[in-house]
Amino acid sequence: MWKKVVSCAAAGFLLASAPLPSALGGNAREAHAAANFNDVSSSFWASKEINFLHSKGIIEGYDDGSFLPNNKVTRAQAAKMILSALGEKEPTVSNDVFSDVKKDHWAAGWISLAKQKGIISGYENGTFKPEETLTRAQMSKLLVRTFEQEYDLSVKDDTVEPFSDVWINQEFRPYVSKLYQHGITTGTDSTHYSPYSSVNRAQFSVFLSRTIEPSYRVSSAENGGSSTTPPATTSTYGIVKTDSLNMRSGPSTSSGVVASLKRGTKVDYLGDQQGYWVKVRYNGQTGYVHKLYLKLKNEQGSSVANRVIVLDAGHGGKDPGASGNGVVEKELVLDIAQRVQKKLEAAGATVIMTRTDAATYPELKDRTDLAQSKYADMFVSVHTNSAPSAPSANGSEVYYDTSQNTNGSESAILAKEIQEQFVSLVGMNDRGTKDNDFYVVRNTDMPSVLVELGFLTNSGDAAKFKSDYYRNLFAEAIYLGIKNYYSL
Ligand SMILES: [Zn+2]
Repeated sequence: MWKKVVSCAAAGFLLASAPLPSALGGNAREAHAAANFNDVSSSFWASKEINFLHSKGIIEGYDDGSFLPNNKVTRAQAAKMILSALGEKEPTVSNDVFSDVKKDHWAAGWISLAKQKGIISGYENGTFKPEETLTRAQMSKLLVRTFEQEYDLSVKDDTVEPFSDVWINQEFRPYVSKLYQHGITTGTDSTHYSPYSSVNRAQFSVFLSRTIEPSYRVSSAENGGSSTTPPATTSTYGIVKTDSLNMRSGPSTSSGVVASLKRGTKVDYLGDQQGYWVKVRYNGQTGYVHKLYLKLKNEQGSSVANRVIVLDAGHGGKDPGASGNGVVEKELVLDIAQRVQKKLEAAGATVIMTRTDAATYPELKDRTDLAQSKYADMFVSVHTNSAPSAPSANGSEVYYDTSQNTNGSESAILAKEIQEQFVSLVGMNDRGTKDNDFYVVRNTDMPSVLVELGFLTNSGDAAKFKSDYYRNLFAEAIYLGIKNYYSL
C-alpha cells in the first residue's frame, strides 16, 4: 500500500518515507506537546491526526491558540491544506484566479496553484466559491486526485463500497470507493457516506492524515476489505433458517444433541468447519450445526466478506450456448461472471469459478459437484436467453428450485434481490423470478439461482450486451443482489 515517493522534490516531509514512522513514536509526539491547541485535548477523537498535521506544518490554528475543530472547512482552506501536504509554498499571483477569487484574496496563491495542478477546476460559470463549505463528496475527489499517485490509491474495482447513499452513476463514487478500500473512510456509519454533508476541520484532518500516513488508516478488518490485503474475520454470526436445528456436541449426527434451535435464532459463528459442520455458540453453550441451515452474516464491514460463492458462467468450449446479434452466450456470460468475481473479491468474498476461459466446457455435474465439495455458501449461474422466432421477447429473469434444493426458499429470496437490481439498475424488462428445476439449481444444496440476463435475439438487450458500460451494470446488479441478500 505504501509507495515510496520518488518525485515532489519540494515536499520535504513526503520525501521522508523511511524516517516518518519512527518520527511518529512517543518521544516525537511529546516533543510536539507544547504545540497542541488549547481546544484539542489529548482525548479528543481526532487529536492524534490534528497534532500530526500540525507538526508537519500542514495545518495551523488561530492566534488565540485554538484550532476550532468543529468549524467547517471552506473550499479555500481545503486548497491550502492539500497543497501544504504536498510540501508546496504559496506562490504570489498577479492576476485574478476566478471571477470570485481576486488576486488579493487571502488564498489566491493556493487556489491558483491548485488550479494549475489540475486538482480543482471550479464551477462551470467560472466561479470557485472559495467560502463555500467543502462537502464530503468534494473532499473525496480532492484527496484522490491530489494523492493518488504518491500513495497508490489504486483498487481492483472502483465501484466497491458499502454505502447505500453512494450510487453507481454518481461522479464521486470511484473516489469514495478508493478511500473506503484503502481504509481512509469507514463512512458516517457502516452504510452511509453522507456525500453532501459538509466537513469540519477535525474530520478533514483525519481524512488527510490517513491519506498521507498509511499507518493511520483503518485496518481492512474494520472496513470490510481492501484491494491488497484479504480482510480479517469480521465477527460472524448465523441465523437459523429451518424450523428446528439440532446443535450437537460434535460434528456428526451421531453426536449428542446439546440444544434445539428454532428458526430465526441467532448464534455466534466460531468456525472450525468440518465438512458441512461448523462450531457455534448459543446461550453460553458451544456445539456443532449443519452449515446449510444457517445464514451466515457479518456484524460489520461488507456483508459478503468471507462468504464462499460459486460463480458459474454457463456453457463454454464445445457448447457456445445461444447467439444473436453478433453476441455469443458462452463469451458474454464468462465476461459478466468475471466482473462479478472482481467485485465480490474486492469486498472480501471467496469466489470459485466453474470455468475461467472460453475453451473449457465443464459438465453440469462437475459444476454442481464443485460447489458441493467446497461447501460453498451460494451458487450463481449466469446465462442469456434467446428466442429467434420472437425477436421482440426481452428482459431479465432469475430461476430457483424448490423441488430438490435444500435452500429453495432462500434461493427464491436471492433470486428476487438480483432480479430487482436487473430491473432498477440496468433498466431491464421485468420477467420475474421463477421456480424451475434446472439441473444446476436442483443439484445444489446451498442457495442457488440461475440468471437469464436478457435475450440475445432482441436488439435492445443485445445492444446492452455489447456495451462495456452495461456489462458492468449487469455485473453490478448481480453483485448488489448478493450483497443485499446477505444484508437481509
Ligand atoms: Zn444458457
